[in-house]
Amino acid sequence: MSSVRNVGVIAHIDAGKTTTTERFLFHSGSTHRVGEVDEGSTVMDYLDEERQRGITIVAAAATFPWTPAVDGEHAIHLIDTPGHIDFTAEVERSLRVIDGAVVIFSAVEGVEAQSEKVWRQSDHYGVPKVAFINKLDRLGASFRRVLDEMREKFEGVSICPLQIPIGEEGALDGVVDLLSMRALKFVGEHGGELAEEDVPDGMLLEAAAARDELLTILADHSDVVAEGYLEERDLSVEFLTREIRALTLSGKIVPVFAGSAKRDIGIQPLLDGIVRYLPSPSERGICEGHDPKSGATVEFSPDDKAFRGLVFKLLAGSGADLLYVRTYSGELNAGDTLLNPRTGEKVRAKRLLRLRSKNVSAVEKVGPGDIVGVIGPSGVVTGDTLCSVGSPVLLERIAFPEPVISIAVEPRSTKERARLDSALDIICREDPTLRLRTHEATGQKLLSGMGELHLEINCHRISEEFKVDARFGVPQVAFRETISSEASVTGTFAKTLKERELSAEVDISLTPVPKQEPGIVVESSVSGDVPNAWVGAAETALMDGLNTGGNHGYALIYIKGLVSGIRGEREKTNEAAVAGAVLVAIQEAISGGTLLLEPLMRLDITAPEEVIGEITGYLQARRAVIQGITTLSGAKHLSCEVPLAEMFGFSKSLPKLSGGRAAFSMEPCGYQEISREDLERLAARNSAAFA
Ligand code: GDP
Repeated sequence: MSSVRNVGVIAHIDAGKTTTTERFLFHSGSTHRVGEVDEGSTVMDYLDEERQRGITIVAAAATFPWTPAVDGEHAIHLIDTPGHIDFTAEVERSLRVIDGAVVIFSAVEGVEAQSEKVWRQSDHYGVPKVAFINKLDRLGASFRRVLDEMREKFEGVSICPLQIPIGEEGALDGVVDLLSMRALKFVGEHGGELAEEDVPDGMLLEAAAARDELLTILADHSDVVAEGYLEERDLSVEFLTREIRALTLSGKIVPVFAGSAKRDIGIQPLLDGIVRYLPSPSERGICEGHDPKSGATVEFSPDDKAFRGLVFKLLAGSGADLLYVRTYSGELNAGDTLLNPRTGEKVRAKRLLRLRSKNVSAVEKVGPGDIVGVIGPSGVVTGDTLCSVGSPVLLERIAFPEPVISIAVEPRSTKERARLDSALDIICREDPTLRLRTHEATGQKLLSGMGELHLEINCHRISEEFKVDARFGVPQVAFRETISSEASVTGTFAKTLKERELSAEVDISLTPVPKQEPGIVVESSVSGDVPNAWVGAAETALMDGLNTGGNHGYALIYIKGLVSGIRGEREKTNEAAVAGAVLVAIQEAISGGTLLLEPLMRLDITAPEEVIGEITGYLQARRAVIQGITTLSGAKHLSCEVPLAEMFGFSKSLPKLSGGRAAFSMEPCGYQEISREDLERLAARNSAAFA
């Protein structure tokens, strides 16, 4: 286990994640040809639409060997993470299963919105990191500026450069390693050979100052380094490496590397850095899960005999699914029968695959900490746990946000219907942030997702990958409803069902609450001699009823529901009657009218000063409420809240508004009331149900 590294690559779109990953595979001897992103031939982007769009959408996993100069061979499992905001759930899922991360920044664009966001998300998961400042060969590149920006933005951790670049922009010619104080040059075909040289004379002072800065940072956190430094002892590379490793694992520092992936500068030292400074699975320590029955927390060690693994990605096939599994404890053998504690079903892991990007090979068994492809189990969805039959544990399921946007999908001819249904089933099982429901009134299938691009890509998959001739509607935001004032009502249920008279009376009150998570809270305070089963049935019916929908058929939100009284007779009242009375009461309570709410997004934009006025104008015309514009490292940062319905097409408009020099991140931040005029305007715009 100590020779394994499970690593994720995090970056803002275009910072060079795909190129760097390709170079990792190439320099480790895992591909024979260097894949150029621009040629659309990269190994990691294996899905068709990823190639066409040139962005990495789905977290793919690839395993490759790496042998640093002084250590033995290591296996690096690389989990690719998507760089686009619509795929936050994919990012969350990959952060869950990695032990360490490489964060790539562009030396020109610096710390961009998405990488900043994912950096913070990774802190939440306690993932140690190393950083790579890429694109140092590009015009406008500055290592120093990106370091300053990182320090400004990421407080609470010491940004700790272990290298400085030799030259910048067109003159980039290698890096100085500040531990050994040697110049590293990358020579031969694709920089495949490493040449060590003396630090160039002209850089001696700069390099000495940079090493001093490095030692000062380390001394701040480590007494042994501080002692050695003060006593001017010769601090060996091995000693410093050990200290840097310990400080990185404890989250105190983030080592920073320099280079250019495209020009093959700095790749091998970065790979060494992954092995030297990022943790092995066993260093992750005790793992946590839950007992599927009681929900109680269960702790286990990676050395535990029982097998436990998490399905973090799934490629659904028409025959069998390919599951990407991160193993946490125990051994998994090909042919083992496992338990899916979510469904209680037993499943068989027929085949185990070592995933080497495009090439896969069969393996007979894997141990804890491994990342492996599993073929065979059915009825599994992304996020499920697989474990030994005798020791059921539910590894924490990843919480996915509610979809905010939906699109109608229908076959162009009835003979396509079955194929469309099967394609929809596959994409929804693969991606738990997609939801499918049938519109009650029209019978239309509605596919919901996390953003415009998210849906666009999946519609493209339906047409191109599954070759289904389908029509797609105009994207619609998922509205909600709420109440404006408190309502206390009594619901009465009286019906004869199967010749049995049933009746119940329930008092409920609904109170509007401020924007909060979760959007619906249900409580009960029932006095008198009321069976617990009735109270439970009333609470469940209240929760379900509010989620099912209000006057316009949208789910209700921002409401506290209270069950305050239940009356019935032992012979005539049962749980179904109580639930029926609650539903009558909800209808009564909202009959006076509900307010329609629309999803609101928090939008953060980084752009140069010259274009910020243009962007602000665009946003204000779209009902955005600007919350602040600040200046950081010479660029303007704008934060606002804006209705999602106004943001369709924004990812295509922003590059035009800013000459391609702005970056943004956008995420749902709740719901706000929508006026009748705005609603009519949106309805008119969307009246063509199918584009
Ligand atoms: P991703 O979106 O983060 O995966 O970024 P890509 O790897 O697709 O790179 C985006 C663009 O930047 C492509 O056109 C790459 O060829 C280019 N690129 C990547 N790394 C470098 C680099 O080190 N120097 C230069 N000049 N271009 C690079």
